Amino acid sequence: MNDKQTPDVNRDLKKDDLIVIAGAGGFIAGALVRYFHDLGFSRIRAIDKKPLPHWYQQVPGVENLSLDLSEKVNAIRAVEGAVEVYNLAADMGGMGFIERFRVECLRSILINTHMIEASYNAGIKRYFFSSSACAYNTELQKDPNVRALKESDAYPAMAERGYGWEKLLSEMFCEEYWAERGMKTFIARFHNVYGPYGTWDGGREKAPAAMCRKVIEAKDSGATEIIIWGDGHQTRSFMYIDDCVLGIDLITHCDELIATPINLGSSDLVSINGLVSLVEKIGGIKLERKYDLEAPTGVAGRNSDNTFIQQVLKWEPNTPLDIGMQATYSWIEQQFVDRKAGKNTVIDRL
Ligand code: NAD
Repeated sequence: MNDKQTPDVNRDLKKDDLIVIAGAGGFIAGALVRYFHDLGFSRIRAIDKKPLPHWYQQVPGVENLSLDLSEKVNAIRAVEGAVEVYNLAADMGGMGFIERFRVECLRSILINTHMIEASYNAGIKRYFFSSSACAYNTELQKDPNVRALKESDAYPAMAERGYGWEKLLSEMFCEEYWAERGMKTFIARFHNVYGPYGTWDGGREKAPAAMCRKVIEAKDSGATEIIIWGDGHQTRSFMYIDDCVLGIDLITHCDELIATPINLGSSDLVSINGLVSLVEKIGGIKLERKYDLEAPTGVAGRNSDNTFIQQVLKWEPNTPLDIGMQATYSWIEQQFVDRKAGKNTVIDRL
């Protein structure tokens, strides 16, 4: 999306080796399918439990399967013949989802245990797992002026209830499948990812998409207010989707990172109020802010310490927030217009 130098990736992968991508009806894995397809990989199998018409993206020439990967038999079918497996399937959403549906979040352990065992039995060469910054100790995230989180901050463990603990345990599976069984596993801890073709309505959306939608709705209806969850002082960093998929590729093809969790996120900290101001600027409108102090907000502050990724990959996510948010806003605005006109838009409802 901008003219940054793309780092080289050392892939030991032939163009017709089978790549399996799980969770591909969703946001990040959908973008990853497109990314590998556009690089010229000719055999990609994309899998999601949602029926195909509900996928955010369907890329031509890709084998799309609708399978529930929390079932062992489906996980075995999914990885058959694969050389690399990218497991991004999870029952998840923004704070509104992960604070209300902890059981659903914890049950993603079924996907991860079946997928890693099936991948091991299938003799795959590389296995990628999408972990999360929610695996970090919440005690270190009580102040909006946070110290950025480095990889060692996950232990002693006090992860986000439900979702974060599941990620931490699934990371451990990846570590032990390498230590005991010699399967090359790779673990990225994503920090808030945003961009086009993600969830923007329905209850699973995250702050950047939610802010865009609220501003677009206000412009459309003539409303003068915007409701913000919490006091707006919470801080986060946000990574653009293009950086995320490139980061996944770089991490999975770096042997120095085998079974080693690594941050994949932006280190550019912004408050929720700052994010709202940016979206208002993009939308060309100023709204009166109402703060819902009862709404779920998660930890007070969270940022990614990128010392390790810079050291190993000589790269870090670097799309400026205003550029990424402009692209995201434009895409959501078009979705909004299409939906209003009665066209078919995909919304992942709770
Ligand atoms: P998403 O909800 O858009 O995509 C996840 C997909 O997994 C969905 O399409 C869902 O239908 C699918 N899925 C759920 N259960 C399944 C099952 N049993 N079998 C097959 N498919 C199933 O979410 P996303 O934002 O694309 O997240 C992808 C991964 O990245 C997840 O593991 C998530 O925990 C992780 N992550 C995302 C973020 C973020 O900011 N988006 C941050 C940290 C970690």
